[in-house]
Amino acid sequence: MDGNGKERAVEPRDGAPTGAPKRIGVLALQGDFREHAEILRGLGVEPVEVRVLEDLEGLAGIIVPGGESTAIGNLMVSSGLLDGIRSFFYKGGPVWGTCAGMVLAASATTGSRQPLLGLMNALVERNGFGRQVHSFETDLDVEGFDEPFTGVFIRAPFFEDVGPGVEVLSEVDGRVVAARGENILVTAFHPELTDDTRFHEYFLREVCGI
Ligand code: GLN
Repeated sequence: MDGNGKERAVEPRDGAPTGAPKRIGVLALQGDFREHAEILRGLGVEPVEVRVLEDLEGLAGIIVPGGESTAIGNLMVSSGLLDGIRSFFYKGGPVWGTCAGMVLAASATTGSRQPLLGLMNALVERNGFGRQVHSFETDLDVEGFDEPFTGVFIRAPFFEDVGPGVEVLSEVDGRVVAARGENILVTAFHPELTDDTRFHEYFLREVCGI
């Protein structure tokens, strides 16, 4: 009841009108954000290109795409989004990092220092599959998937070690290439470069809960 004795309507938690499509952010500083946005649209959610802090408002999740993790990291520092995405995450906001995004999600790298979000208890090796092997495709067995998923790897990282709270979803020759925590998913490969939308659906359903 408000001061006038009228009942207030129950507001949806994110303030969006009931029935409006959920909004999922795609960090759009550098890299292949457009492909993610296209797939999200096809799955009935509204993609939001994230370039400034204000773009994080009202998002049901955010994807940090592939690209060059040093470039994306430096741009996140200068835009304030490094801290912005950290605080989104620590408030429970769902995050999915693909390839460079997986590097940025890690708490440490085996290589030289670079800005990291550090959201996941893991040591990452950038370009972990060797300098010669720039790209390859392989069928992955993924925890929770009935059929293998074709992973497109482009100068991909892997997790060398993972700590408590990290669940490994897929490995290639003992190297971790997909993993999740409570509100985070990482993939070393590029699901947005295939027609297979199962990882996008997994993120929306299992991590974002939509
Ligand atoms: N090798 C790149 C990096 O570490 C990632 C490559 C990619 O995102 N396809 O930043």
